[in-house]
Amino acid sequence: MSKNIKTFNLKEGAFPIKMDLMFEDIDLQNIGRLKDSIYGNIEISLISKDLFRCEGSINSILIDNCQSCLRDIEVNLNFLFNLAIKDEALMMDDDSSQDQTHYQNLEYFDVKQLIQEEISLNYPNIVKCEDNCLEINPIEKEEKNLPFKKIRDLID
Ligand SMILES: [Zn+2]
Repeated sequence: MSKNIKTFNLKEGAFPIKMDLMFEDIDLQNIGRLKDSIYGNIEISLISKDLFRCEGSINSILIDNCQSCLRDIEVNLNFLFNLAIKDEALMMDDDSSQDQTHYQNLEYFDVKQLIQEEISLNYPNIVKCEDNCLEINPIEKEEKNLPFKKIRDLID
């Protein structure tokens, strides 16, 4: 399937729909920047008239900043997902909240929107290189500590 796919009518699909996807950009804030493309693999099945199921996997590598030392670090994003898909028109009166459900206009189904929603949900809340990266690699700390070191030397 072409990587330029935009939207398609899920209501007229022949199921299961299998797709290998690749995206070179992403419209999400508050996550790192893409180091490599986003690779996705999905399979959409028809369960009943208004209910679809999507299983898939997403692989990508992003560059983000460590929340402690602010260095660039790689975030490997590899996860599986399994969710229900329903038309957004059903969202308001849907009380079956046992499953993760993705709502969209099914006649103009935008698979990238689904992928982005999953990435947003699965992106780590805490991005850190190591637990004690500031202690292991103290760049500025050393200089700041110099006056104290001198005093300590005097005391010794
Ligand atoms: Zn760090």
